[in-house]
Amino acid sequence: MEQKMEKLFIFGHKSPDTDSITSSMVMENLERKCGNTEAKAYRLGNVNKETEFVLDYFNVNAPEMLEEVEENANVILVDHNSFAQSVQGIEKANILKVVDHHCISNFETASPLFYLAEPVGCTATILYEIYEMNRVEIDPLIAGLMLSAIISDTLLFKSPTCTSKDVEVAKELSRISNIDIESYGMDMLKAGTDLSDYTADELINIDSKEFDANGLKVQVAQVNTASIEDVLKGKQDIENAINKFMESNNTDLFMLAITDIINSNSQVIALGKTDVIEKAFNVTLEDNMAFLPGVVSRKKQIIPVIKENA
Ligand code: MG
Ligand code: MG
Ligand code: MG
Repeated sequence: MEQKMEKLFIFGHKSPDTDSITSSMVMENLERKCGNTEAKAYRLGNVNKETEFVLDYFNVNAPEMLEEVEENANVILVDHNSFAQSVQGIEKANILKVVDHHCISNFETASPLFYLAEPVGCTATILYEIYEMNRVEIDPLIAGLMLSAIISDTLLFKSPTCTSKDVEVAKELSRISNIDIESYGMDMLKAGTDLSDYTADELINIDSKEFDANGLKVQVAQVNTASIEDVLKGKQDIENAINKFMESNNTDLFMLAITDIINSNSQVIALGKTDVIEKAFNVTLEDNMAFLPGVVSRKKQIIPVIKENA
């Protein structure tokens, strides 16, 4: 008797980045190759310009949008675990697997699950190991998507989150996909710095994460740019958008990191309980702003210090 397979939803975090989008697609490929024909990738938000570049380059469509999941829906989380960053209804879903490279927070399940987390620079690096574990071959398209995620998350290996494993895996994926890491990577990252089409409201939502810091509801958004000055031309509109966001979400502290990916620095705009920011980074905000030299990683250089000083 043939058993009917149940639907399986695979997705990354809200305000999806290249890793969240491509790792969902890669996980779908892996599940299907392992016989799970109902596995399907989804996204929890709009695709950003960098990811758009990647999908165009490989001529593939973005995953379908997922607004919420029903009770007991079977899901796989990639590139996140925190419920605050996940889909609506996640508390009552049936989480089968998590593949992630973030700290584990606000995470609880009723049933046992497959959970693979590693302190590496990108989810794709962990997925590479799962392909190996399952002895599944990685085809060139999938390798290209995985390589894109590693380049994105590690800012072409320049982020402090990047490990030697990420570099090694990227080299192997470059061989399989026949893609030159440097030239493709620069084009891809550059595509992500084109912020011209975004309104201020959209800009602060391109890559934004909510987390709890000692009872404070904190939101840290980040945009990549080649010119901090250019982004600051819209500072007033950005601050208005942040204030509006904070009011409707009851946010205690909002920080936008405008990250110069050429020189590896960030200019931040902070509103709300900004004494936490001043203490955390040992700065005095001027005009709601501070310059943080050498800071590019929210995960490694921003969130932990905010949590420590909240
Ligand atoms: Mg991500
Ligand atoms: Mg990631
Ligand atoms: Mg990121």
